[in-house]
Order: sequence, then C-alpha cells, then structure tokens
Amino acid sequence: MPHIDIIGGGMAGLALGIQLQQKGYNTTIYEQHSVAGGLCTSWQRGAYTFNGCLHWVLGARSGISFYHFWKELFDIDQLSFYMPTERVVFDVPLPDKNGCKKFFFYTNINQFEHYLLSIAPEDATEIAHWCKQVRMIMPLLDYLPPVWPDKLLARTKLALKMIRLLPLLPFMRQWGKLTNRTYSQRFNNVFLRKAISMLYDAEMRMTVLIFAQAYAAKQVAQYPIGGSAYFASQLVARYSSLGGTLRLSAKVKNIIVSNNKAQGVVLSNGERTMADFVVSAADWHWTVFDALGGQYLNKALSRLQHPPKDEVFFSYCRLFIGVALPMTDVPHFARIATEPITLPDGTHYDHLEVETYNNDPTLAPHGCVTMAVNLLTREGEWWISLRKNNISAYRETKQQLETELLQRLEQYYGAEWRSRVEVTDVVTPATFYRYTGNFWGSSQGWSPRPDITKRLPIGYTLPQLHNFMLCGHWTEAGGGIPVAIYSARKVAKLIELNFRK
Ligand SMILES: Cc1cc2nc3c(=O)[nH]c(=O)nc-3n(C[C@H](O)[C@H](O)[C@H](O)COP(=O)(O)OP(=O)(O)OC[C@H]3O[C@@H](n4cnc5c(N)ncnc54)[C@H](O)[C@@H]3O)c2cc1C
Repeated sequence: MPHIDIIGGGMAGLALGIQLQQKGYNTTIYEQHSVAGGLCTSWQRGAYTFNGCLHWVLGARSGISFYHFWKELFDIDQLSFYMPTERVVFDVPLPDKNGCKKFFFYTNINQFEHYLLSIAPEDATEIAHWCKQVRMIMPLLDYLPPVWPDKLLARTKLALKMIRLLPLLPFMRQWGKLTNRTYSQRFNNVFLRKAISMLYDAEMRMTVLIFAQAYAAKQVAQYPIGGSAYFASQLVARYSSLGGTLRLSAKVKNIIVSNNKAQGVVLSNGERTMADFVVSAADWHWTVFDALGGQYLNKALSRLQHPPKDEVFFSYCRLFIGVALPMTDVPHFARIATEPITLPDGTHYDHLEVETYNNDPTLAPHGCVTMAVNLLTREGEWWISLRKNNISAYRETKQQLETELLQRLEQYYGAEWRSRVEVTDVVTPATFYRYTGNFWGSSQGWSPRPDITKRLPIGYTLPQLHNFMLCGHWTEAGGGIPVAIYSARKVAKLIELNFRK
C-alpha cells in the first residue's frame, strides 16, 4: 500500500492518520513537539493540570453529524462529559429590573426564553424571534454536515431529507451580517441591550452565536472530563493501535518536490524521508511560504501572505491558576467586572473572562481547583516578535501581566482567595506559535466570515502541486476540532480516490 507522510500531530493529523490506517495505508506522522495533540493540550504545574484548550467538544453526544465522525475515530461514548446549566454568567454594568447585575446565558432554550421574558417583557417579539431561530436549527444539526452513506438508495434518501435545510438560506441572509453588538440595538430594554452586546468576549457574528446556542441547547457540545490532553490521547492511542508511526520531536523543515510532485519531507536534523503522498496538517502559512518556499500560489493565496488582522481568528493571553480552594459556588464560565486592563499589545478589556474548572475533579487535588483567565487578542504578531527580538522584555511583560491580573482577581474573589493561590502560568500568542506553529498564534484558523457557506481561499490542494494536500483547521470555515477532524475525513477520502485512479 502507498506510504503517506503527515506533517503535524494535532487533532487533524491524528484523525487523518487513523482514517488512512483504517483504509489500509501506511502512514507516518511527524510532530515537532514532544507530545501530540497540537493546540488540544494540557500541562502539569505542581499538583495541578492546566487545561490549555477545550471548553467544549462538538459531537460529544449523538444528535449532530460530528458525533458520527468521532465514532469513526474512537469510542467517544466511554468518555465523561459535562454541560453546565449556564454557558456563561457575566456581570453587566447596570441592573436588570429586579436589581440583579448578572446575565445568565442559560443552556436550555426554554429556560433562556423564560429568563429573557422575565427581565424584558417589552422585548417579547424580538426574544421569540431569536429563540425561534435556535429551535429551528436544533433538529437540522443531524445533517450538518451530512454523513453520506455509500449505498445509492441511502444516499438518495438522505439527499431528499436535506430539503429540511432550506430554512437555513433565509436565516443566513437575515442574520449573517448581524453581530451581537449590532443585534443588541434592536432591544428596548437597556439591561438586555447591554448584555447582548457582551454575549461574546469580542464582537461576534450572530449566526455563530445562534449555532452555538443550538449545540448547547441540544447538549451535543460538552466539556470532556479529563481535559484537552486526555482527550487528544484517545486519538494517539487509537492511531498507535492501528499500526501508525508517530514520530515526536520530529520537526519538518521542508517538503521534497520533484516534477511538481510531493515526494517526502526533510526534517530539521537533515533526515530525508520518501513517500507516495504528503499531507500537511500543520499551519498553512508555514506550509505554503516556508516548507514549499512560496512556489505553489495563486492570486488569492499570495494576498494572504500578509492577511488583514481581522481575517485570522483571535489568539489568547491566558493566566492559569491553581488554587487551594474548591470554588464550587462560582460559575464554571464567567465574565467578571473588574478594573479595566489594557494589554501591552494595546488590546483593552473592561472585564475578565474566567473559567473555573470546578466541574472536573481530575485537574486538581481534592478541595482545590484550576482557573484560567482568557484574554482574546488579534495582536499575535506583536507577541511573537517581542519574544523573538527581546526575550527578557517578553518575560518581564508576562510577569507584569500576571501581577496585574492577580490584583484584579484578588479585588473580585478576596484576599483569602489570593492567599490560596499555589501555582500560576501565563501563555501568550507567542506560546501558541512556539508550540504549534499557528500563524499569529491563531486559536482556530480563520475568523468566521459574514457568509459562512462561502468557500475559503485555502482549499485542500495547492495550484500545480500533485501528491500533496493540506488538512486541519485552516482548510475549512468554522474553526475548532470538529473542523480539524472533518477536514481529515475529507482528505482521507480524496487520497483514496487519488490512488484508485
Ligand atoms: C485556548 C483555546 C481554546 C480552544 N477551545 C476549543 C473548544 O472548546 N472547542 C474546539 O472545538 N476547539 C477549540 N479550540 C480550537 C482547537 O484547539 C483547534 O482548532 C484544533 O485543535 C486545531 O487542530 P489542528 O490539528 O488543525 O491544528 P494544530 O492543533 O495547530 O496542529 C498542528 C500540529 O502541527 C505541528 N507542526 C507544526 N509545524 C510543524 C513542523 N514543521 N513539523 C512537524 N510538526 C509541525 C504542531 O506542533 C501541531 O501539533 C481552542 C483553541 C485554543 C487555543
């Protein structure tokens, strides 16, 4: 059987390895880091595990096609998941009509609608309109994206069922251009108007937010107990059990091409490998402009050598904290009102997003908890060049950020909380870049576009280059691990077709 080299042992590379091994191909995954999983990772600090990635996995439970995609890779049903009653609880700078300055973003759509009506009855029509969209999308998730069966009759039946997706067209047209900030202006109630403008930690498209609400309401996206590295390790185990070769600490320097055909890879230690086909499940920008030296471009790809900042999804600065307190009385996911803070990269926040992993006993010793403060930023390039050009200034900047964040958290959670902080760690876009190579430290590839059905300029193939494909969260719209494994599934099928020719 043909041999396939896969660059990158993130979720996409691992999923592709599994799909191809199952189809009988021989594969080798080259991963630059000493562990696989890519962005989907966690790490230890003392007795605490810091969950570096997942707050939810789409397809954790049946009712959405991604569940079937996970089942193709491993037995996801044997994992435990958690779904909070409220997806987010956040402080609003003014009170609702009952004097409460918190907004509860309930998971259950009926509970959410009742809650909204109770605080803003004057907006009943708009509230009903919004919740109707979420309910309309929930049953459609089974077909998004469709899992096409091999048999013709079954395929035809599914194609007929797809007519149910037609209501999505007017939905995309109506909601595609709205963000939570522009949508909030439709509400009369001032508390609700403010709260809707704060639904996401930055301005986000309403189509994305409504889909996320539908996932939560249907309980098909949940947090995996054990955290991100444990989740990724399920794919590593499955890949190894199928006979795949995972080479860790194996950084690829470039891709060997002869007569416009990819033929293998060169590792940073000079080792050369030969293969019948090469897939890069690593960062697309590195692949196109470094590993292939910018030889295989078209106009759209050339433009993206220096993309506009808002086309690349946010990166993060994150402060991780291990606290010797159970913190069972705080919401799992909160946005708390604190003194405003401006990152040295210029990004401003008037509140902090805090995850408290009081739902996952595996991450901390009994009676203790891990927490993470998330600061979204589009200034990845700033952090990466600071680290590259002045490592001591970079370290000082991280230290200062930690001090400022802990001060604000102490004001919010109290001096007792501060005295129980046992370990901390700060990551920045430069950390994401260093460990995974993602362009500007992007956490999910591209930003969502106004029309999420529109094709991205990056596809699976590159102009004029044969025996080569791209895979991973840069190759599909939507971002996240579902997109990574979905792309792997598609690439595996395309490779199969290629070798059948
Ligand atoms: C803080 C955070 C929270 C997130 N939360 C969620 C969430 O709740 N749900 C969700 O679905 N998604 C979430 N995501 C997004 C998700 O983690 C990513 O979209 C997904 O993991 C991308 O997988 P990938 O395999 O495409 O890319 P990556 O994870 O980037 O994998 C690429 C791999 O290639 C390797 N590589 C790069 N260059 C080379 C080279 N030269 N040689 C060898 N190997 C190389 C890298 O080391 C890496 O392992 C989050 C991301 C972040 C950062």
